[in-house]
Amino acid sequence: MRLYGVQNQYFCKHNMAGIYIHIPFCRKACHYCNFHFSTSVLHHAEMMQAIGKEAVLRKNYLTEPVTTIYFGGGTPSLLPVEEIGLLIGMLKDTYLITNDSELTLEANPDDITTEKLAGWKKAGINRLSIGIQSFREEDLKWMNRAHTASQAKNCILLAQEAGFDNLTVDLIYGTPGLSDDDWLENIQFATALGVPHLSCYALTVEPKTALAKKIDMGQLKNVDPDIQARHFSILTKTLAEKGYEHYEISNFAKPGFRSRHNSSYWQGVPYLGLGPSAHSFNGKSRQWNIANNALYLSALTQNNIPFEEEVLTPQQMLNEYIMTSLRTIEGLSPEKIQDNWGKTALEELKNCMEPYLRSGKIVGMNGNYCLSEEGRFLADGIAADLFQL
Ligand code: SF4
Repeated sequence: MRLYGVQNQYFCKHNMAGIYIHIPFCRKACHYCNFHFSTSVLHHAEMMQAIGKEAVLRKNYLTEPVTTIYFGGGTPSLLPVEEIGLLIGMLKDTYLITNDSELTLEANPDDITTEKLAGWKKAGINRLSIGIQSFREEDLKWMNRAHTASQAKNCILLAQEAGFDNLTVDLIYGTPGLSDDDWLENIQFATALGVPHLSCYALTVEPKTALAKKIDMGQLKNVDPDIQARHFSILTKTLAEKGYEHYEISNFAKPGFRSRHNSSYWQGVPYLGLGPSAHSFNGKSRQWNIANNALYLSALTQNNIPFEEEVLTPQQMLNEYIMTSLRTIEGLSPEKIQDNWGKTALEELKNCMEPYLRSGKIVGMNGNYCLSEEGRFLADGIAADLFQL
């Protein structure tokens, strides 16, 4: 594809930034997980000090005020609350963090206690993302999760009693053994408790995971895409009826409860990623830290940050915009494409979109192009077809 009049400014027009902190420890390895983590938590205190040091060493990476901080992983809720509080204090001393910032912490049900909730609140956390995945014991065992169904059910009430109204739960669908009715009950359990945001993911069998190996060896059943499509349809219908906005393929929110941090990713807002395996983006390049706890710790003792970097080409930026914008309710803006990548780029993209417009998988809405419900389930494949080479 030829790119004329490229300005490459799409990703640089934001007067805000985010910080992501990767806490690379988990109590147990979930069979399906391909994130970076260790089940040995011995060095958690050193790790938090190293992450704090990285924050200071990279203080010039972000030039915009920080409006969101996100503790992900891994399992940040495993850590003593004091360590979370200390790091937040250090970030506040180092970066310009706005008073109304969103501070999210990912928590697993088995870590959620009244004491921890109070500690997180005191440290400044104002949003919890709870890794429920399922309210059914058999699914949790199948996934090798560390928590039980009763912990999954109780922790939401505990969080609400502690004053965490802004919370989201993660649920997984399309697991073998989860019937349509079971899935509907899982969704309804969360909505009945008034959870204002849900992130729901189709189970994906990632290469090299325990799940992939068990399926290969015939020990576990593989996922069925038809069942996943049915679950997705149950999900979108149920949550629409209950007043949740389907604002991104996997994300649903009551008005006012969208994730500000994740929305920033989809809008191309710059962010700094701290900790092993964390990714950063500054509008021009992507960086990713080494995904190895020992090597990360040893590099930081020498004041080095072990990362790799890729400077994005205009095509890569365009493809990222196509992928992320199509996943959101706002869709892909032809005006933005023309302004940033030129008229020819827009014309070529429209040609590629033609079959999807004819089949109704992409529809025009408010001057933008959006995925229809049928298109949303096929989002990744459609975006890949539209990528410009
Ligand atoms: S708790 Fe989360 S990060 Fe840890 S193994 Fe399970 S899915 Fe992966």
